[in-house]
Amino acid sequence: MNEAGGRFPRSKRASARRHGLAALAAAALVLAGGARAAGPAIALTFDDLPAHGPLPAGETRAGIAEAIARAARAAGSPPLYGFVNGVQTEREPGSAAALAAWRAAGDPLGNHGWSHLGLSKIDPATFERELTRNAPLLADQRARWFRFPFLDEGADPARRDAARAILARHGYRIAAVTMSFGDYGWNEPYARCLARGDQAAIAGLERSFLAAARSALAQSRAAAQARYGRDIPYVLLMHAGAFDARMLPRLLDQYRRAGVRFTTLAAAERDPAYASDRDPRRPFDADALQHHLPSPEIAPEDAEYAGAGLASLCQ
Ligand SMILES: [Zn+2]
Repeated sequence: MNEAGGRFPRSKRASARRHGLAALAAAALVLAGGARAAGPAIALTFDDLPAHGPLPAGETRAGIAEAIARAARAAGSPPLYGFVNGVQTEREPGSAAALAAWRAAGDPLGNHGWSHLGLSKIDPATFERELTRNAPLLADQRARWFRFPFLDEGADPARRDAARAILARHGYRIAAVTMSFGDYGWNEPYARCLARGDQAAIAGLERSFLAAARSALAQSRAAAQARYGRDIPYVLLMHAGAFDARMLPRLLDQYRRAGVRFTTLAAAERDPAYASDRDPRRPFDADALQHHLPSPEIAPEDAEYAGAGLASLCQ
């Protein structure tokens, strides 16, 4: 039986017959809604607030944060986490306004380490300082979520376990990533092409960005199917950059047309697939999907923008 049929109980069908055409029309809408909602759920998350990538002329960090929130609300997304590196408020004066804008939109902030240091390169004491120095920026948040910089959970087990114990002691949950398409790679070429006024190159960047997102959606769904025999609610990693903000309305529309609905990070991680991330007191789960995802790939027709293509575009 298909999803829509399964969601539409016999008693409702009988009721629709009794109440005539209007009820039948309403039932058809329910069916259509059920069919559209049959795709997976995705929790949107944005890393590297308040400042990621180059800032194009005429734009502000707060404006980027506002554009992300606007697009998310327009697409029906519930509140979404932004992960903060507090050091940027010192490196880029004025960028803290993006954090204020994020909160003003009703979206929560999570911890991404003060200065974005990979766990494999630091000792546990440094890891803890990176965590606590950021905390005042998140002080009004009830739930504490941490995203590892570079998704680096530590190569050696002793360091990894030490970091998990520190996160547990400070009451943090780990924000896993189960979908990513390398979105950060588009922000620098976009800024260059924009400065040159190269509209053809920007149109190519837009096409390849959407193609990469489609490819990653298919890859994560296939990986979840192989690992769990089903879709899980996915956690999508994006970055708070100018091109991400520009593309978000089109990206979210593309997801919705693929049947995706949007959910919160907390709701996604209630799925058993995330048990070891939701609670760092549990043992590290090397079999969890986030440790087995293939690296994001670009569709072959957009290969000229992939990898080295993005790095040299508009140079
Ligand atoms: Zn980051």
